[in-house]
Amino acid sequence: MTGPLSQLPSVDAVLRMTGAEALIATYGRSAVTDSLRETLSVYRQRLADGGEPGEATDTAILADTGRLLDRRADLHPKPVFNLSGTVLHTNLGRAILPPEAIAAMTRAASRQTALEFNLETGKRGDRERPVADRLCRLTGAEAATFVNNNAAAVLLVLNSLALRKEVPVSRGELIEIGGSFRMPDIMARAGAKLVEVGTTNRTHLSDFETAIGKRTGAIMKVHPSNYRIEGFTRAVADPDLAALATSNSIPFINDLGSGALIDLSRYGLPAEETPMQALAKGADVVTFSGDKLLGGPQAGLIVGRADLIAKIKRNPLKRALRLDKVTMAALDSVLSLYEKPETLRDRLPTLRILTLPVADIEARASRLLSRIQAVLGPDWRVEPIACRSEIGSGALPGDGIDSAGLAIGGASKKKTVSPTRLTKAFRSLPCPVIGRLSGDQLIFDLRCLDDEDGFAAQLSSLRVGE
Ligand SMILES: *Cc1c(COP(=O)(O)O)cnc(C)c1O
Repeated sequence: MTGPLSQLPSVDAVLRMTGAEALIATYGRSAVTDSLRETLSVYRQRLADGGEPGEATDTAILADTGRLLDRRADLHPKPVFNLSGTVLHTNLGRAILPPEAIAAMTRAASRQTALEFNLETGKRGDRERPVADRLCRLTGAEAATFVNNNAAAVLLVLNSLALRKEVPVSRGELIEIGGSFRMPDIMARAGAKLVEVGTTNRTHLSDFETAIGKRTGAIMKVHPSNYRIEGFTRAVADPDLAALATSNSIPFINDLGSGALIDLSRYGLPAEETPMQALAKGADVVTFSGDKLLGGPQAGLIVGRADLIAKIKRNPLKRALRLDKVTMAALDSVLSLYEKPETLRDRLPTLRILTLPVADIEARASRLLSRIQAVLGPDWRVEPIACRSEIGSGALPGDGIDSAGLAIGGASKKKTVSPTRLTKAFRSLPCPVIGRLSGDQLIFDLRCLDDEDGFAAQLSSLRVGE
């Protein structure tokens, strides 16, 4: 071979280098060989594109191979620091669990358990029973059941109660939640026929009355989660919908979405409707998520009338959507924390984070400011800022809560610097830091920064490229 490509070392030559041995010991010979081949092909492409042959040294190739292997060895999902300002960030895994729930998961995963076994009778038991009983005591519901997530809950409820039937829903509630969860699509897949009622901003009881006929299977209300209609608006009150459903002998289903299990206004947070309130206002079945404001694992919780829950549990789809034992253990553990509301704020991370006093977050910001400034040097300016955290996951849209953090931008007034490379540098840290861009500043909302020392300790690896 002639030309620049001939300057690339062979696989064997790199494997013989000192340093290759350590990689082989860590990752195994075949993984190292594969990654080396891939790295070499990247260099080959670079040279073919007119790259500098001098860069393709054996040492550089081996180092890149090592980085590729390190990256591949990372287990998914990789922990990050969520400084985005959205507490229950769907892309960052929503609620984090309390230590009790993590211990419960470990127990359920590492030992045989009486999962579906009745210890009194010695016969087969109902795997959900104890958790359902607990949720019923907490919510006052007659019965409860659980599935994989709230989307599954909506799917299962509609498929069980309104298969091949019509379901009127207000046009103002036909929402898309993101990640392609659209209410009309879920309804169609559930085999229910959506009947749109009213207009986007106003729906009257008479609209529902007109829509109801022989083919109606249920009335459905959907929490508008991630958006809010303001101004000239009207929605039908729950008790009116409930009465209309009852007089037509059909169930009234309420998809709450987030569904806090306690009144958040007690903690100075904006109120979010609870399943108890929804049931009290006449809902026959209420669905909500486990990993939103509840602060538990991903799950869909269904509470309501015993006859309807029994019907839902008999649906063959239930088996396909059921919770696994590890999640069930975490959910039960989190629910048990709600039995002692006095200590809930201290023990449930989601609530603790949401109610963290702004002064504490400001103190965090001032402790970190100089450390970040020192690492970034004089090209960047770090300043403390007041900001607002979003609760996220469709809870309380627009009702941010006061928070504090740091804003980082270019230090020179004359020259505007794009913060994109800064963002990328923080994302490339061993435990990536996820902030939020605002204009030409990178914003860190420090509300969710629970491990300040861990955050500070890795700052020395920060490399802001050109
Ligand atoms: C979030 C949400 C869902 C979907 O819940 P998942 O637990 O994410 O599946 C459904 N309906 C509403 C109103 C929601 O806010």
